[in-house]
Amino acid sequence: MTPDPDASARLRAAVRGRVLAPDDAEYDEARRVWNGMVQKHPCLIVQAAGAGDVAPAIAFARETGLPLAIRGGGHNVAGNGSVDDGILLDMGGLHAVEVDPDSGLVRAEAGATLGDIDRATEPYALAVPVGVVSGTGIAGLTLGGGVGWLTRRYGLTIDNLVSAEVVVATGELVRASDDENPDLFWGLRGGGGNFGVVTSFTFRAHPLDPQVFAGTLIYERPRWSEALRSYVAWAADVPDEITTLVTFMVPPVDWELGSRPLMFLGFAWAGADRVEGEAVIDRLRTACSPDVAVLDPTRWLAFQSAFDRAMPKGVRAYWRNASFDRLDGPMIDTLVEHCGAQDWVGTAADLHHLGGAFGRVAEDTTAFPNRAAQFWLNIYGFWANPADDPARIGWVKGISDAMGPYAMAGQYVNFLGHDDADPYRKALAAYGPAKLERLMALKRRYDPMNLFRINHNIPPAA
Ligand SMILES: Cc1cc2nc3c(=O)[nH]c(=O)nc-3n(C[C@H](O)[C@H](O)[C@H](O)COP(=O)(O)OP(=O)(O)OC[C@H]3O[C@@H](n4cnc5c(N)ncnc54)[C@H](O)[C@@H]3O)c2cc1C
Repeated sequence: MTPDPDASARLRAAVRGRVLAPDDAEYDEARRVWNGMVQKHPCLIVQAAGAGDVAPAIAFARETGLPLAIRGGGHNVAGNGSVDDGILLDMGGLHAVEVDPDSGLVRAEAGATLGDIDRATEPYALAVPVGVVSGTGIAGLTLGGGVGWLTRRYGLTIDNLVSAEVVVATGELVRASDDENPDLFWGLRGGGGNFGVVTSFTFRAHPLDPQVFAGTLIYERPRWSEALRSYVAWAADVPDEITTLVTFMVPPVDWELGSRPLMFLGFAWAGADRVEGEAVIDRLRTACSPDVAVLDPTRWLAFQSAFDRAMPKGVRAYWRNASFDRLDGPMIDTLVEHCGAQDWVGTAADLHHLGGAFGRVAEDTTAFPNRAAQFWLNIYGFWANPADDPARIGWVKGISDAMGPYAMAGQYVNFLGHDDADPYRKALAAYGPAKLERLMALKRRYDPMNLFRINHNIPPAA
């Protein structure tokens, strides 16, 4: 589809950034997103050179009726960072991060990646709680929630968001915080990119020694059941300072750990007293001794990018997730059966331990669903060969269906893959009826025409 030439000319004249069309040499790389299964072809790509480029892009979408996609880091698993036959506003060129060590406030432009933020804060021995792969965009991650190695200590990324600057559907730039447009601030924290284009985020950072006590305990397949039972008992009584993430996968070849499924029990200690952290991990090691323990001192930046190479841009991906209030015997047996069936590299299941600071945020403080969850399971794939699609997607769906009967309400939109489900039903499954109603009222207020719809959409009306 070719947009109206006059409107395109006005857009080019109004923005400072580049506007790419399909015949530009850079177009093909610029249109691609992290998930190689999603191949979309926008008719124009605006590479924003400043916050001032946002309003003209919104005006162009409104005027032409073309769908508008917003991109931060392009890591959205469902491929919402691009669009067919529409306009893509790519904020990726705006990635400055400013740290004020006195106040602990960190201002990040919307195109920053998690790595940009960690690199800016680490010299001050500060950290913002973000996710665990450094190329992920702060924008999509924050607007959906943001879970990572500091979640039990300091909460989700949104729990540390102080304010955001947002260009809303009218083209007006507004601030959202506890004091300014608090309804919008509520919706931005979990409601995705439904309410406007964020141009910058301000976060509260926390002290973190750049040399962290973090590591991995590795268990062979025959010991998973015993290890998980010990882990669950241990996790019921650990301090907030420890966050753990259990991954079941066949490790990538370059990890040189062999080609069988392994259970990786990763942890990060975010407390001041490392000795205390060691004692906490020793309790787990005593309860169920790992086959291998990797406990070398780790630089925070290295730990935060440890998974990067396993999941490069362009891999094929399908993800699902579910939350749980417990992990009992039948659930453990189901997990072990399905995760142990992987004899390929390219799929995995991550079990995030929650509670702590995450669980103390009152449910109605943010749009993020289900603070009562104790564990969140993210089942995902990252394979290369299209011929593997049916088997890998089948594995993800199989474990998701098998764990479904044990799941609580609520889904984390950032861990949802692409599918054709009805947007209202998807939103209902993610947020539940009460939150969805509030989100829809907010949508009617800020975006009644659903201009921002290339996302996990909150429809203005059912
Ligand atoms: C390899 C990998 C690892 C991951 N690890 C984690 C993790 O550890 N923790 C976690 O919580 N999540 C994780 N995720 C999920 C991640 O949070 C989501 O995929 C998120 O959407 C990525 O954000 P992005 O900016 O990179 O995505 P993009 O594709 O650029 O954008 C995603 C969506 O966000 C919205 N958006 C983007 N920028 C803006 C903006 N400026 N204003 C308004 N809306 C905007 C748009 O609606 C867009 O549809 C991971 C994903 C991948 C692929």
